[in-house]
Amino acid sequence: MAALKALGGTSDTFPEEASRWQRLEASAREILALYGYQEVRTPLLEEAAVFTQSLGQSDEIVTKQMYLLKDRGGRELALRPEGTAPVVRAFVERGLDKTGGLTRLYYLGPMFRAERPQAGRKRQFHQLGVEVFGTASPYQDAEVLLLLTRLLCEWRMKDWTLKINSIGCQGDRARILSDLKSRLTPHRQKLCRDCQVRLEKNPLRILDCKKADCQKATDGVDFSKAVCEACAAQFIQLTESLSLLQVKFVRDPHLVRGLDYYTRTTFEVEHPALGVQNAIGGGGRYDDLVARMGGQPVPAIGFALGLERVLMAQEKEVPNDSPDLMGAKVFVATVDFNDVPLAMVLAEGVRRHGISCVANLDDRPLKRQLEQAQKWRCQVVAIQGESERLKGVVALKQMASRTQIEVPEGHWFSKLQELLKS
Ligand code: AMP
Repeated sequence: MAALKALGGTSDTFPEEASRWQRLEASAREILALYGYQEVRTPLLEEAAVFTQSLGQSDEIVTKQMYLLKDRGGRELALRPEGTAPVVRAFVERGLDKTGGLTRLYYLGPMFRAERPQAGRKRQFHQLGVEVFGTASPYQDAEVLLLLTRLLCEWRMKDWTLKINSIGCQGDRARILSDLKSRLTPHRQKLCRDCQVRLEKNPLRILDCKKADCQKATDGVDFSKAVCEACAAQFIQLTESLSLLQVKFVRDPHLVRGLDYYTRTTFEVEHPALGVQNAIGGGGRYDDLVARMGGQPVPAIGFALGLERVLMAQEKEVPNDSPDLMGAKVFVATVDFNDVPLAMVLAEGVRRHGISCVANLDDRPLKRQLEQAQKWRCQVVAIQGESERLKGVVALKQMASRTQIEVPEGHWFSKLQELLKS
């Protein structure tokens, strides 16, 4: 029978790589806590309406990329393709929209999109996202961007570009869309097929298209003159505070991020090492989404970082970042299979002191056990076979120097601690 394989666009994470993930996640949690964010965990499975209502029926995630399934009762469910909509759903369900306070949440976990897999584009990938509810202050936008760049610095990445833009408020939207439509309609035939559809359904998305002809058609489009005075003033406050906070950015008048729900500030971080899929993350303000999803009108802003891409980019910038993987510090070897239970007692004593330890549990020659200990990068191997027991000692072998000593049973543990420190 042919061996089973992981689905295309999904992958297994083995210990060497998992340790990189753990370090990335741990440092992210530390930084997020510094900025007053707390974790929220939402289900991987939601009613499809959570996404269709929030992202909009015409959004590509909804039309092409959602993994949909029906449960036995015939309800339409979706594997979450992104994190904001479920967090907003949970925020409203918990009644947090009615408290009038500030809420700072973050999430970290897998997302699912039915995309054609390629480098940096997977069907199951992981996002770290933050959402701040309860303020429309442009200084909040600045702080969110400060946090985003602080995370990148913490991960020792320098080679990124933060692009920002303002796409105006809902009041500006109708005007911007009709301007854009009348400007692009004469070039309709030159647009790619997707963009011809977008011209009717969501012309903003055409600005996102990477095709040369579509880019040419949108050349020179800039909303900065089309947005209302209040939005323009907010954008100036944002950019001035970013400069004060020494957050590097460039203004990209074409950055719209497609999603229906964004208002005012939009942003994206790119990294040149990633090739075509060069966005590490992005986000924006979504002042109308909470109300659109059935809550009180609560302004909000957030971002999501794609962690696979962060790791890919980090690997390019910080080579050999992973320290050698260590299975356990101490290995308790046995000379005879019957000694295994005693070895288990010794190992458990070591673990009780907070030191990682693995005992041999198998009927294997000592030589093979030492090879295993070497593979796991154990620092010390402890052995108490029959001859050691008769002498009342434990043998301790330092793997780096290959030196072995015998220590009286009563002192063996303090000697072990000493060796581990040396
Ligand atoms: P989006 O909400 O689509 O802008 O996604 C935010 C971030 O998630 C992107 O900038 C990517 O880093 C990451 N991302 C999105 N889709 C994928 C995917 N299919 N595979 C890997 N990472 C992705």
